[in-house]
Order: sequence, then structure tokens, then C-alpha cells
Amino acid sequence: MPSLIHTLQKIIKKVDQAPDIQHALDYIVQNLIEALHVDICSVFINNEEEQENLVMMATHGLNEGAVGSIRLQTGKGLVGLVAQKAEPYRVDDALSHKGFVYFEGSGEENFPVFMGVPIISQRKILGVLVVQRREGPFDNDDEAFLTTLAVQLANAITHAWSSGHVDQMLRGGDSSVSCTLSGIAGAPGMTMGRAVVISQGVDLHNVADKKVEGDEAIERERVSFHIAVELVRNALLGQAESLRQSLPEEECALFVAYAQMLDNGSLIDDTYRRINEGIWAASAWTRTINEHAEVFASMDDDYLAERANDIRDLGRRVLQRIISKQEGIRQYPEHIVMVGEQISATDLASLPLERVQAIVSEHGSAASHVAILAHALGIPAVMGVSNLPYTRMEGLVVVVDGYSGKAYIDPKQELLNHLKIYIEQERKIADSLLELKDKPAVTTDGYRVSLYVNSGLMSDHTPSLRSGAEGVGLYRTEIPFQVRESFPSEDDQYRIYRDVLKTFAGKPVVLRTLDVGGDKPLSYFPIREDNPFLGWRGIRFTLDHPDIFIAQVRAMIRANQGLENLHILLPMISSIQELDDALILIHRAKDEVQEELEETLRFPHVGAMIEVPSSIYQIDEICQLVDFVSIGTNDLTQYLLAVDRNNEAVAELFSSLHPSVLRAMEQVVVGAARQGTPVSVCGELAGDPMGAMALLGMGIQSLSMSTGSLPRAKKVIRSFAHDELVAYFQEARSMLDAQDIRDFYIEKLDERGLGYLIRAGG
Ligand code: PEP
Ligand code: MG
Repeated sequence: MPSLIHTLQKIIKKVDQAPDIQHALDYIVQNLIEALHVDICSVFINNEEEQENLVMMATHGLNEGAVGSIRLQTGKGLVGLVAQKAEPYRVDDALSHKGFVYFEGSGEENFPVFMGVPIISQRKILGVLVVQRREGPFDNDDEAFLTTLAVQLANAITHAWSSGHVDQMLRGGDSSVSCTLSGIAGAPGMTMGRAVVISQGVDLHNVADKKVEGDEAIERERVSFHIAVELVRNALLGQAESLRQSLPEEECALFVAYAQMLDNGSLIDDTYRRINEGIWAASAWTRTINEHAEVFASMDDDYLAERANDIRDLGRRVLQRIISKQEGIRQYPEHIVMVGEQISATDLASLPLERVQAIVSEHGSAASHVAILAHALGIPAVMGVSNLPYTRMEGLVVVVDGYSGKAYIDPKQELLNHLKIYIEQERKIADSLLELKDKPAVTTDGYRVSLYVNSGLMSDHTPSLRSGAEGVGLYRTEIPFQVRESFPSEDDQYRIYRDVLKTFAGKPVVLRTLDVGGDKPLSYFPIREDNPFLGWRGIRFTLDHPDIFIAQVRAMIRANQGLENLHILLPMISSIQELDDALILIHRAKDEVQEELEETLRFPHVGAMIEVPSSIYQIDEICQLVDFVSIGTNDLTQYLLAVDRNNEAVAELFSSLHPSVLRAMEQVVVGAARQGTPVSVCGELAGDPMGAMALLGMGIQSLSMSTGSLPRAKKVIRSFAHDELVAYFQEARSMLDAQDIRDFYIEKLDERGLGYLIRAGG
């Protein structure tokens, strides 16, 4: 059916290019009429906040007044039935169907042949796409066509929801984004502040809406826009000139034509008009560009329709200039809640850290590095909030509950007062837990546990020391590498490592060698791979670059001089060969430094991370080569369960309390004990109260965690007898499901009155 496929592709393309969701829906309903020879086409959107949740938001064929007013509950009417069953539904005579609900004045009584398909994304019903005709049943091809279109529409709706267009449409244009959104609990704690939108990779669809007030501010935006336009125009003319040697004249002419579009005319005038109305330059320009591009995109002539892309391309160039000029002069509120599409560790480092209260990110999960860093810094984080309207959140009050993974955006006064009580309770709990700082982590029956911190971001280690840490159990050296613009020199590294070894003098400090790759990229060393988590990361990367590895280990050994508290940890060990190779290089580095310093140095303790499943099955052989092993529960969970630690779509499957993960770790504990090798755990599970209970129960005596988690873990340890924890673990390990295990431990915490450690308000 070539013509249908062609139509489908055309509709998909238009949906992709539509400036907002309403345009996309209107386009679909108009074009389906012809493509499927139907009389009526309608789209219902699922607005979960309403009781009659399925709202008709676009139609062709029904009375126009019906848009926004035809509403059904899931399960009611044929549309509600499609939503309830979550599968396509066809009937030849809708009027006599027992589920049919007639809407007075809608005009559908003459079109009894009905087909509806659900619009689904990640198991959620976003809406229903419906077609109706006077006669002639729908067939399988029609259904396949409509289903394919619904998948595309689901993408468009999800995307539009995230940029606020769907909310706006459902509220009939009300621009308020006051709402409560759920995501993944990324780092615990409850706090509030004002939203600062982190715009990375700003594009025409995700520019934050911001208002400017006062003549002075408006003038600043005008100037900012003027400069951006001038810079782009000159750059374009320059490019045209320099390409003249190598490109045909007509290709160069394109650059000149682009530049001319910036000379004057409606693109410029419309933008100034918007700025004068109090819209900041980036948003004013984006709206103008989208409006113009849409006019071209809707033209039937393919050549003219293609011009929409030229306008967008030009739009992006100017937009980048506006943004990059304004980032430098940004003013931040006293209490910052970072919000954005994909907040990264480097974004965190680019803000005044002492003001950052919380993070809310559309993508990512609890095991993403930014969440781990937030945890380390005691900053609550909510990740994977799929409908986050971040472009419209700048400056709004946001309350973040990092326990339950909720973000309250611009909450109403009553709710805000209520939330403030929790925030205050939270502060008091944190203060009371700090009193445990000098007390040992020991169970009620005398089982002593060593608690260490995970570190890497800050040069100031005071909070870690203040929390009562007995050393650093994991120093992620990749973080200082990531926040720089080129590889740090050996001397730079020496200073960083010396600082941490000195601060914790007399206490062990575990410096892990560079673990880049996966979701820890280096901007100055881009690695392109289809499967980065299965690719060139950790020890694989550094063994292939002995220059980088040796420089790093040399810096560590030099920094250890006279302190003797260095432990070197090797990440992502998946074979004995890697371990052998790394040890050879460490010996070489040590010999070199020894010769240079003309001093006999002790060979540092060397350990292996147990985070790749293969290492579990060679635990005896690994232990024979190293001084200690450290279990990385984040990667071990990712690789054992085949769940990307960063992907919010599968975040629910990511559980380090999964029985298989627990049994794998148990195997490591038993194997290491056979060889007399100490085992510690440095993944996020160690700092999770339920995780700490399980780990102690399996025989672990050394835990390393984010500074923020340490007081809670200590409280848990001091509240149970080790014998109890061993018995709990025996029960837990045979459960079938991660959730059952989690619930089981939550129950034990609640029984002991410790529920406040895992949720706001106790
Ligand atoms: C882990 O994988 O559990 C770990 C501690 O290392 P990272 O989170 O840095 O990969
Ligand atoms: Mg890891």
C-alpha cells in the first residue's frame, strides 16, 4: 500500500516539525480524513487530573464546539473502552453497541463505523485516536496504519508534555505550571528553592520562557538580540567568502541568503515586538522562528516546505549566540533548584554549589552519576520526571522530596505551608543524626562496622570529616578529570590527591583509577560507541592508554609520600589479564617514583572493583592478586540485571536488592573470606538504610557511601543486633522479588520507629 505509507511518512514528518501539540493534532485529524476515507477523525488526550479524564482535543468531522467539551471517563463509551483495554477496537455499528455514549449536538449519529486505537507511552495511556465513517468496515491494514500513527503521536505528546504544551492546551491556555510531578527518588532529603533552568543543548523546542520587566531590562534584551544577529550575519558572510574556493557558487549563495534574512524584515521586526512586550530575547526569537517555519512547513509544495528547515537552522545559530552571551551574566537566586532535561555532573559543578538545594531532572535515574554526586553532597534529587515542564519553570518555587521522588512545582500556599513543616522536621532529624558523629558504628550486640565516604567532587572534605567518616572508601578520580577542559597534568593530579590523602592522614583513602566511558564522558576526549556501557570504559580505557594510567598512578604514589594511607582501586575488572597488566604498570610507576625521590617506598595496597559479573566467578583468583576488593553495586546491578543505570524507562527494574544481586554479592563475600581478603561495598546500596541492613546481614563489615547517607546508616547500624540482621538476610535472600525484599526491610525499620530515615515526615 505505497500511497498509505507515503501518507504516513508525510504525517509523521509534519508531526515532528509542528511548533506545538495542537498544530500536530489538527494536522493529523485533517489528513487522516483523506488517507483513510473516513468522515470523522478525533484525538482524545488523557488528563489524569480530571475525573472525566479523556478530553477530545482535536476533531475533523464533528462539530467544532465539541473540542474541549466532549469528555469521558476511562471505561465509559467506546473511547473509554479503548483506553481501558489499552488495545485497538473496531465496531461496525457503534450506535447499537452497549458501551456507546452519545453527545448531544456532536453530529456523530450518522457515522456508526468506529475504530479507536490507544496512544501509549511506557505503559501509560496518553490518549485515544478515533476514526469513524458512514459505512464500510475498517480492515487490518487500516488498524495497522492507525496504530503506527498512534506510536508516533505518543512520542509527540510525551515530548509536548515535557515542554508544557499539553498542560497548557488542557488548561485552555492557562500558562500556570503549578503541579506535582513524580519521578525517581535520586537522592534523599526534602528541601525547597527557586528553579534555575539548566539549558544544555538549547534548541528551538526547549527554550525557557522568561519575562523581563522594566525599560532597562528590555533594552538589555534588545541589545543582546542585536549583537547575536550581527555576529551570526558576519559569520555567515565570512563562511560564504571562505567557501567560495571549494564550493560551487549556488551553495555559497545559501549562506548569503541566510545572512540576508537577518538584514531586516519580519523575522527581526517580530522578535523586537515580542521583546518590547517583555519576553526575553531567546524566547522572543524562538517564537518568531517557530511561527515562520510553521508557515513554510504547512505548504504543500515540497520545495517551499523544506525552507522551514532553513529557517530553523538560522534560528538555532542566532539562539546559540543569545544564550552563550547571557549564560555569563546570569544571576542566581539564594536557594537554587536545578531543573532541566538532563542535568549532568558538570552542570552541578558550574553553579555556586553552596546555593544548590536540589536537582530535578527530566532524564536519568538514581544510579546516574549526577544523582550519586547529589547524594554525596547531601542535595536531594528527583530524576526521570518525564513530564517536567522545565522550559516554563525559571524562577518558580519548587519543593523537592528526594525520598519519594516528587517535585512540587509552584505549590499553592496551603500545600506549601504543609510541605514546610516536613522540611523543618527534616532539618531537625539531620541535626539529631549529627550527634552520632563521634559514636562508633556498632550494632547493639557489638558487631563493629567501618563507615567510609565516597568522594570526588570537592576539594573541601570538611563535611565528610564532620560526619564521622573513618576514611575515604571510594575517591572517584574521574570527576576532577571531567570538570576540566583537558587532561590534568601529573602535577595537577598530585595536588588533588595529596590534598585528600593529607586531609584524611592516618585514615585509609581509596583512590580509584580513572573510570571514564559509559555515562562519564570527557569533553576533550570524545568516545563514540553504540553501547558505551559495554564498551571502552574504566580499566579497559586506561590499559589502552598506559601514558594516562602511569601518570595517574605516579601522581598517587608521589602524593602518598610520608602519609602511607593510599589504597589504589581498579575499576571494571573483568579478567585476570587486566589485573595482571594493571599491576605491572603500578609496579613500573612505583619504581620510577622511587628512583626519582631516591627513597624506598612501600608498594601501596591495591584492590579490584567487583562490578562486572565475570569477576564474581573468579573471585578466588582475583583475591589472590590484590589486597582488598570493593563491590560496586551500581554497575553490578546494571550488568547482572541488564538494566541501564541511567535509563528512567527501566528504572523500576534497577534494584540492588534484587535476590540475584544479593546472592551474587554473597558469593563474593564467601569467596573473599576463603582467601582472607577484606571486602567492602562502595555502591549506592551501602548508603541505603535497607541496603546497609542486608549487607551487614550477609557478613559485610565495611561500607563506603555518600557523606549525606552516613549518619542515617550509622543510626540503622546502632539500632539492630547483628544476629537479627543475619536472620533477616536469610529470610530476604530467598524471596522472589526485589520489591518484597525492600518492603520486608522497610517493615523492620518501621517496627523500630526508624521510618523517618527513609521518608519525609516519618
Ligand atoms: C559502582 O559501580 O557501584 C561504583 C561504585 O562505581 P561508579 O558508580 O562510579 O560506577
Ligand atoms: Mg562502577
